[in-house]
Amino acid sequence: MATGMFDFDGELADLVIAYCRERLSLEPVPLDHPGVKAELDAALAGMISPSGNEPAKVLSTFAERLAPAVISCDSPRFLSFIPAAPTKASLLFDMVVSCSSLQGTSWLEAAGAVSAENQVLNLIAELAGMPTGAGGVFVSGGSAGNLSAMIVARDLARRRGLTAATPKVAVSDQSHSSVAMALHVVGMEPLVVATEDSRLTAAALRDAVAGAEGELAAVVATAGTTNAGIVDDLEGVGALARELGAWFHVDGAYGGAALFSERVRPRYAGLRHADSFVVDPHKWLFAPFDCAALLYRDPHLAKGVHTQEAGYLDVLHTDAPEEWNPSDYAYHLTRRARGLPLWFSLAVHGTDAYRDAVDASLDLAATTAGLIAGRPYLELLREPELSVVLFRRRGWSAADYHSWGRKLLEDQVGFVTPTTWAGETVARFCFLHPGTTEGMVTEILDTLA
Ligand SMILES: *Cc1c(COP(=O)(O)O)cnc(C)c1O
Repeated sequence: MATGMFDFDGELADLVIAYCRERLSLEPVPLDHPGVKAELDAALAGMISPSGNEPAKVLSTFAERLAPAVISCDSPRFLSFIPAAPTKASLLFDMVVSCSSLQGTSWLEAAGAVSAENQVLNLIAELAGMPTGAGGVFVSGGSAGNLSAMIVARDLARRRGLTAATPKVAVSDQSHSSVAMALHVVGMEPLVVATEDSRLTAAALRDAVAGAEGELAAVVATAGTTNAGIVDDLEGVGALARELGAWFHVDGAYGGAALFSERVRPRYAGLRHADSFVVDPHKWLFAPFDCAALLYRDPHLAKGVHTQEAGYLDVLHTDAPEEWNPSDYAYHLTRRARGLPLWFSLAVHGTDAYRDAVDASLDLAATTAGLIAGRPYLELLREPELSVVLFRRRGWSAADYHSWGRKLLEDQVGFVTPTTWAGETVARFCFLHPGTTEGMVTEILDTLA
């Protein structure tokens, strides 16, 4: 009956911890490669069997054959999509969360973990200028945050008497794809507002919603678009959303982190109007996956929508004023205490270190814009507002960008995937790793000559 798999095995612990120690010590980590299916299948063949394997064999299969087929999003040369750069402290504490089986579902079960997570949520709410009492929960990502917020927006619109079969939500043509998906899930319809210079403005919003005010449930603004790092006119749009009686949600999954930069924070002042706000610490706040902070101006409203009721859960819901059940603020129940690695790292390093790390990416984006402007074969498409840089290689077709990107990765010089901007395939960098240097950028730009 006893299998031994629940017994402590010192050798197994040493083996895995030694691997983690080595991975943490790599400066920098290798970029690594896309996978080849036949090779991965061969490596995995027979690996799961009735009797199991030696741990060392399984770990070496992972280390030597599977891990190299995972492009390292924490490499300073990973400049595609939105990269990652978790601090060592946050990664180590992620191991603590795992080894202690720390969950963060309810106050009854996990008050210690929930208190620490809430300390971080309060810090973010304060930087965002949200009122005292704002609060929420760490969810798995911006997508989960956007979805949870839209569920609340829909239910509240219904409660205040909005009867349209398919309520409308004003979004911009630059909103993240997860917003459209969230609306699809909750049965609301996007009312797409054309942007002015790719930014959602109050004037454009007013024009777009004219005549549809009675069907409007919410307005979604973006604080740092994924494609170009553009912050919408949060002040104007937020004030208008208020005036229209619509829920105001701000998607700052990528750019919300720039609240830590004193230089940029004034552009986020309109967050004071937000009913809900999302920022992904697993992006630009240097936390491990998967971690997104979802905040509500009035968490009670979210609680009224998301609380799950069942006889076996009754014990979680008391009238104690200090009670805070993270499960009540999104569509989930059981959840990993995924805010704790960020809490530990913030407590260890302090907020100034976070400010400096965010500023480093902002500086590198500005420097890169200058490097591009100084090269006749390149053309900067717009001045970077945050840490995304969009540019064109004069004379190139889409195929040129793709084959250039493949070669860069093959040579382990960089992972740079092209994007589409105004219908054209162009080059894009997203900086957020403090280890990305001007030298690395120059090396990449030189390959475009
Ligand atoms: C990344 C991103 C999302 C989605 O977040 P996930 O963590 O990938 O689910 C949503 N909105 C914006 C603006 C993003 O950049």
